[in-house]
Amino acid sequence: MILLRTALVALLLGTIPGSCIGAPASNVRASQSALPLPSARPAEPAPPVALGVFRLNQPAQQGSYALGWAPKGTVRLVIEGADVRFAADGRFGIGFGRDHQPTATITAFLADGRAVTDKISVAPRQWRIENLKTLRRYSQPSAEFQARRPGELAQINAARRMVVDADGWRQRFIWPAKGRISGVFGSQRIYAGEPGAPHNGVDVAGGTGAPVYAPANGVVTLAAASPFTLEGNLLMIDHGGGLNSAFLHLSRIDVKKGDVVRQGQLIGAIGATGRATGPHLHWGMKWNEERIDPQTLVGAMPAP
Ligand SMILES: [Zn+2]
Repeated sequence: MILLRTALVALLLGTIPGSCIGAPASNVRASQSALPLPSARPAEPAPPVALGVFRLNQPAQQGSYALGWAPKGTVRLVIEGADVRFAADGRFGIGFGRDHQPTATITAFLADGRAVTDKISVAPRQWRIENLKTLRRYSQPSAEFQARRPGELAQINAARRMVVDADGWRQRFIWPAKGRISGVFGSQRIYAGEPGAPHNGVDVAGGTGAPVYAPANGVVTLAAASPFTLEGNLLMIDHGGGLNSAFLHLSRIDVKKGDVVRQGQLIGAIGATGRATGPHLHWGMKWNEERIDPQTLVGAMPAP
C-alpha cells in the first residue's frame, strides 16, 4: 500500500503540467509554501548595506544578485579571486550561487596603489527539498540525443563567452511573463537518498503563445534555429556585467542573435518545446559562473 502510494505520488509529481521535468512543483505540499521568498529588490535608490568600504543595495544571500558600489579611485575589482567588470561610476553587479559559502571576499585596487578588502556575509537560504522513496529512473540517452548534445552545449558555451555592451545588469528587472509560478529556483528532489540536480531557474506556467518580454536591456547571444533536445527553443540574452538570462521551451523566438533588446520588448512566446511537462517559461540566470535566482531581481509577480 505504501509502495503503491509512493508510486502514485511520483507519477503525479512527474506529470504536473507546466514545469521542468525533475523540478518539484511549487504547489505540491501546502506545508512547504511558507518557505521564505527571496527579498524583492527594493526600488532605487536603495538604502545601501555598508560593508567596510564597499556598499551593496541589498544584503547578500545564497542565490541572490545585488548591485554594489566600489570605492572611489578603483582601477581593478577582484571578487573571490576573479576579476570583475565594473562601470566608470564604480557600480558593479555581484551574484551568489545556491550553495555559496558564508562569506565572499572582495578587493578593490586603487589608483594610488592601495588595495582595500571586504568580506561579504552571504546568508543561507532554505530550499524546497522533496524526499521521495522511489528510485530515480534512468533512461538510456538516445543515439539522437548523444549525437546532437555536444553541438548544443557548444552553442550555449559560446553564447556565455560573448562579451556585450549592455546596461541591463544595473536595471531593475521586470517579469518576462505573467502567470502562476510552477517551479522555484534551488528546489531539489532526493530519490531514495540520491539527490537529483537542483532546479536552476524559475518556471512560469502559461499558455502556448503567451508573450515573453525582455526583463532588462541586453543583447541576444543565442536564438536556437531549431529546438534543442532539453531546452527546446532556447533564447539567451546577455545583460552585460557578467549577467545573462536563458529562456527555455519557447514556442516562438522573435529576435535573432546580435539583436539589441530593450526592457519590455517582445522576444518570443511561451511553449513546451524540449523536455517540459506542459507549456511554461523556464527563466534561468547566471552571473559569471554562479547560477542565481531570477526572483531576487524582480518583485512579486504582478496580478493577472
Ligand atoms: Zn524550470
